[in-house]
Amino acid sequence: MKEEKLVSLIERVLGPAKRARGGEEAVFKCPNCNHHKKKLTVNIYTQRFQCWVCSFAGHRVIQLLRKAKAPHNILDELKKIDEKFNFKSITKQKPKDGPKLPEEYIPLYKDTNSILRKKAIKYLESRGITKQDIVKYGIGYAESGVCENMVIIPSYSDDGFLNYWVGRSFMESAFIKHRLSPSSKDIVGFDLFINWDMPVVICEGAFDAMSVRRNAIPLFGKKMGSQLKTKLITSNVPHIYLALDNDAVKDTLKYAKELRAYGKQVTILDLKEKDPNEVGFEGMLNQIQGSKPTTFSSYFEKLLFQ
Ligand SMILES: [Zn+2]
Repeated sequence: MKEEKLVSLIERVLGPAKRARGGEEAVFKCPNCNHHKKKLTVNIYTQRFQCWVCSFAGHRVIQLLRKAKAPHNILDELKKIDEKFNFKSITKQKPKDGPKLPEEYIPLYKDTNSILRKKAIKYLESRGITKQDIVKYGIGYAESGVCENMVIIPSYSDDGFLNYWVGRSFMESAFIKHRLSPSSKDIVGFDLFINWDMPVVICEGAFDAMSVRRNAIPLFGKKMGSQLKTKLITSNVPHIYLALDNDAVKDTLKYAKELRAYGKQVTILDLKEKDPNEVGFEGMLNQIQGSKPTTFSSYFEKLLFQ
């Protein structure tokens, strides 16, 4: 059976496994934290794995064996076993209670004579969002409902399902300026557009991420959820740029420390009290090109003596 072959292959790299949950899980020593007890569980049917000590996790055994620096012949054997696994049916199922766009959402690329539509597009232009961006992200707006007179920016998962949305009023006099999807924020913003083999920029808002243009992930807030952390850690992303506001200093340092512990290069971008949307694409590009990985003493110095 492919599941048993999978277990014995991992055993050749990580040593003998303990079985749990009626055989559904195999438990190994973790190659990431090297905890002396077996704390890393692998579901032998779905291949999802997680260490209960250091939170190292992923959804394919190949990520685990790469981390353990398994030799090429083992990885080749794994790829043969993987051909028999039907990952698509496991990962491409639509989440049952996933978020939905507000009912009143109208896509902006749909040409109508609405004055509100023109206002929405004008507002987006004023924030540096182009017509191409509108099509790329599927930005819409609403003329009534909870998001009345707001542009609506959807976020999609890597398999193309909506995982979040934000609304932003395009009326200057609006009393309520923002609406957020009532669903969980523990998602990967704009995942559909992220290349996980390239450097990424982490920023706070959807407008920030869109104005960075390349490989930028919005947090839709200031906190990094476990889904995003896990994906950053288990992916091949070599370099992570943190472009969070200065009032998120504590969180920024914490994230930088955590990600560096997993061998990622991390740079904290100094936006001088501005957010990426104000700095714009050119400004962000200059920041990224001119920056070196941050050392903690240099960052603290900057904070203390600015
Ligand atoms: Zn571990």
